[in-house]
Amino acid sequence: MGTAQEITASILEQLPWQEELYKHFHRHPELGLAEHETSARICEELEDLGYETCLIGGTGIVGVLRNGDGPAVLARADMDALPVAEDTGLEYSSTVPGAMHACGHDMHMAALLGAAKFLAGNQKSWSGTYLALFQPAEETAAGAKAMVADGLVERIPKPDVALAQHVMPAEAGMIGTTAGPVLSAGDSLRITVYGRGAHGSMPHNSVDPVVMASSIVLKLQTIVSRETRPGQFAVLTVGALNAGSAANIIPDRAQLLLNIRTYDLQLRQHVIDSIERIVRGECAAAGSPKEPDFEFYDQFPLTSNDAAANEKVTKAFEEHFADGQVYQADPATASEDFSTIPDAFGIPYVYWTVGCADPKTYQAALAEGTVASKIPANHSPFFAPAINPTLETATRTQVVAALAYLGRGAQDSAEG
Ligand code: ZN
Ligand code: ZN
Repeated sequence: MGTAQEITASILEQLPWQEELYKHFHRHPELGLAEHETSARICEELEDLGYETCLIGGTGIVGVLRNGDGPAVLARADMDALPVAEDTGLEYSSTVPGAMHACGHDMHMAALLGAAKFLAGNQKSWSGTYLALFQPAEETAAGAKAMVADGLVERIPKPDVALAQHVMPAEAGMIGTTAGPVLSAGDSLRITVYGRGAHGSMPHNSVDPVVMASSIVLKLQTIVSRETRPGQFAVLTVGALNAGSAANIIPDRAQLLLNIRTYDLQLRQHVIDSIERIVRGECAAAGSPKEPDFEFYDQFPLTSNDAAANEKVTKAFEEHFADGQVYQADPATASEDFSTIPDAFGIPYVYWTVGCADPKTYQAALAEGTVASKIPANHSPFFAPAINPTLETATRTQVVAALAYLGRGAQDSAEG
């Protein structure tokens, strides 16, 4: 066991079991930190496969399979669904009103359980420890933190490397890897600026927070356009601006909701410092009677792949998959909380993407130039991964990446 054909044949054999799990998870989505049934089902499956399981961070689970000496590999799948009303019309659509696996976390779980089954059933081909980690609440950036806060680092064997993947609206079967930043750091920020309310007909009695906030919105645009080196990546979006209630009343405060995305933590800090400088400066210029408030929320860490680990996994993918199936991915501006887990252990990690759009539909849309409009992306009520070849590919990636560290051949030839 160990050649590409042998691995593929073994996974094809167990694929019907995985498809059934995928459809089960898809039919029964649960929102972040409420993945109770999902978590119970995963525990049951892992225990059937011979894994020791522990519940960490509420609904989080780690399944541990010890198989002699060797490195420890942690592979992670997220478990939470989204508050989206499904509109795919699929036979296995969500049965929970207003909730849907619209980000493919059901696929991640079915693939990781598949890898867990493969490793449990093929213990002669590897040695070491396999840790299958199922994380709650990725969408709200709360789940990885909850597992770490609940003693993850002390409660499981220390892994040498961590692996994770995400399905995305590329052609199913395609695998994207990259060294360095793969997903951005994401920060949301609530800012409240204070003025002095007055009758709308008597502006001279006010410090108008609507004018103040408007000026702040425009001035914030200069952080990316004027303070950031051309070519360096930063996004600053003012997603909400709320003030007032009536045409003839000048309110006493305004609230802005900002979203920041960066690939470079120094630049991230610069953007945050500049926001604060501009907001305080505009408040002072307007004669605001009270210092503004800044409150961060929904903060996602940077996801930046370790170069050596990414090279090792990419090479294993290239050897296993067909020519052209593995490509060099561009970093995406989305964010993830996965890196909180390897960062808590201080270990390298690799995060890759797997396409999930039906290949024929995708190729047709590509030829027409309509990929953005015709291929539903993650979080859409129409998001409907092609189960095959997505599930098979996502299972093989988890198996092949794990064997790159745990496989007998890999360890014999490893130079350390
Ligand atoms: Zn998502
Ligand atoms: Zn997701």
